[in-house]
Amino acid sequence: MGAGVAGLRAAIELANHGEVLVVTKESLRESNTHYAQGGIAVAMEGEQDVRLHLEDTVAAGDGLVFRPAAQVLVAEGPVRVAELIEWGADFDREGDNPCGQFLRTREGAHSLARILHANGDATGAEISRSLVAFAQVHKRIRFAEWTMVTALVVDEERVVGVDLLDREGRRQRIASRAVLIAAGGAGQVYSDTTNPAVATGDGIALAIEAGAELADMEFYQFHPTAFSWPGAPRFLLSEALRGEGAYLRNDRGERFMERYHPLLELAPRDVVARAITREGLGNSPDEHRPVYLDLHHLTAIDLHHRFPGISAFLAKYELDLSRDPIPVRPAAHYLMGGIQTDLDGRTTLRGLYAAGEAACTGVHGANRLASNSLLEGLVFGARAARTILDDDCPLRLDMQAPAAHPIPLSAAEEMELEGIVRHLQRAMWADAGLLREVSTLRQGMEAQAECAASLARFTHEGKASRRLYEALALSRVAHTILACALARTESRGAHFRNDFPQRDDRRFAKHSILGRDGVVRFTEW
Ligand SMILES: Cc1cc2nc3c(=O)[nH]c(=O)nc-3n(C[C@H](O)[C@H](O)[C@H](O)COP(=O)(O)OP(=O)(O)OC[C@H]3O[C@@H](n4cnc5c(N)ncnc54)[C@H](O)[C@@H]3O)c2cc1C
Repeated sequence: MGAGVAGLRAAIELANHGEVLVVTKESLRESNTHYAQGGIAVAMEGEQDVRLHLEDTVAAGDGLVFRPAAQVLVAEGPVRVAELIEWGADFDREGDNPCGQFLRTREGAHSLARILHANGDATGAEISRSLVAFAQVHKRIRFAEWTMVTALVVDEERVVGVDLLDREGRRQRIASRAVLIAAGGAGQVYSDTTNPAVATGDGIALAIEAGAELADMEFYQFHPTAFSWPGAPRFLLSEALRGEGAYLRNDRGERFMERYHPLLELAPRDVVARAITREGLGNSPDEHRPVYLDLHHLTAIDLHHRFPGISAFLAKYELDLSRDPIPVRPAAHYLMGGIQTDLDGRTTLRGLYAAGEAACTGVHGANRLASNSLLEGLVFGARAARTILDDDCPLRLDMQAPAAHPIPLSAAEEMELEGIVRHLQRAMWADAGLLREVSTLRQGMEAQAECAASLARFTHEGKASRRLYEALALSRVAHTILACALARTESRGAHFRNDFPQRDDRRFAKHSILGRDGVVRFTEW
């Protein structure tokens, strides 16, 4: 389930041993992976480099990184990236020379410049292009584009297949030896997000519904610098801009990060995002004073060549990176939590595996180190595939037919549905965003309950559409974020509680686990 970096990498591994069906909600290139800009972090300079990458990952995770997972990520990363280059991924090199040294940049909380990038600021598109091209020549990989996984089929506590809904609204049931959820994150649960429309947390919602456990759902990373312009999309202004030396300034022109962290603009993402929020707070809750990225002092870099995609986007608004201060504010970006897996992609439900942003191995802890997620998709996508092969699950051939084709929603009902989703997204941003407290989280719970009740009206009438399944997933994911955020009465990494502003290692140096019963418990791994 999913054709981002994790799903495609897994499919390539599996295809040497059997038939693989890759199901994706839109075209093969529509994924978070495709939009990744800044790069992929990888320690290609030997043991010392690997050790430092591990330490940076652990430090960014604020006491909650599961060290064995981070060790796997940094140690296996160089091999996976070298393999990707062999398969055709073209990372930027010195002097645009095909045999030159790779160019590397630095991003927040990295002690070294270790981030490879492609076409300046289009790394994800290049990774997606190269993996799709490589996968498409494999005869044993079939692709179902514009097709949605709507349910996991469970028999005797084992996942034995999936239900699909195609573009024409037809249902189909597929038996499979194993199902890998690589369906990405859930940025669309918030009104302000850098994530594309497909990121509605479907995989996570299906997993908990089927009986798998989730972990660390309270930890949503808010990227500090998304474009802030009335009516414009929340386009990401990559951390690599600050890696190259961009300053952050408030509306009085002051560089303010020295008041918040010794690493200034390259402090961990959660610190920068909260600093921008605080600097932008006006006198009323609705007022937001602008905060700017300022690059005009970087005269030694050809910013348009280094950041061609960002430059082209800003030109539409008559803004120029080398001349104008660029208005920014945070947006929901990356989910550290997800479907709990072991180091080999196994979930707590037999027959079900997960990798990439939908999964939680504990590798990011409470806060992801910049540019570690593309690497995570490669490393854990490949590992999950090998586990599926090792587990050698049987294939059920006596599957029952799926339910009848659904009744589509009318145009008026689809509009009403859109309103329900928008209400939930706004409530999540206001109530479970960067700064949370018990009263806002409870308010968020009320909004989620209203949303769930409204959606139930449609499902009780036997209606279904892609948007309705997405809305159900968003509602379920919202509930899991709120429940875990309420239970963690401390502040750590991306989870900040105004009412519990300190980190509390005595009670909470643990992962939150949530199952179908809705009860949150905290455990050490
Ligand atoms: C703007 C932006 C910039 C980023 N920059 C970077 C960066 O520079 N470096 C970095 O490391 N990370 C970056 N990230 C994060 C990174 O891109 C993602 O975490 C990573 O690509 C996730 O990969 P994935 O394979 O897990 O999921 P995705 O790439 O999100 O793929 C999910 C797939 O699942 C499919 N899907 C979803 N639901 C269903 C369903 N119900 N049925 C069928 N298919 C479904 C989708 O269509 C898609 O194909 C960025 C993210 C964004 C949004």
